[in-house]
Amino acid sequence: MRSIRVLDHAPDAPQWNCRDCGDQWPCAERRREILTTNDPTMARIHMSVYWPFMVVDLTRYDGTTTLLYLRVYGWIPKHRP
Ligand SMILES: [Zn+2]
Repeated sequence: MRSIRVLDHAPDAPQWNCRDCGDQWPCAERRREILTTNDPTMARIHMSVYWPFMVVDLTRYDGTTTLLYLRVYGWIPKHRP
């Protein structure tokens, strides 16, 4: 019987902290995993899946998205390193 693989360092919504290390998600370990398995374009596409949910959950009170944008996309290099 196959088991379902649960991702390490997955987000815990609606707070969007890492389930494993408790840091803001994406935590350093998750960012490292994403960048080792994706080029920068695919990393941005990967993160865009989470973006609308993070905007709804994390801008509910202050309404700003600039810092959230940097948190979600700012760590992805513009080009393949
Ligand atoms: Zn983590």
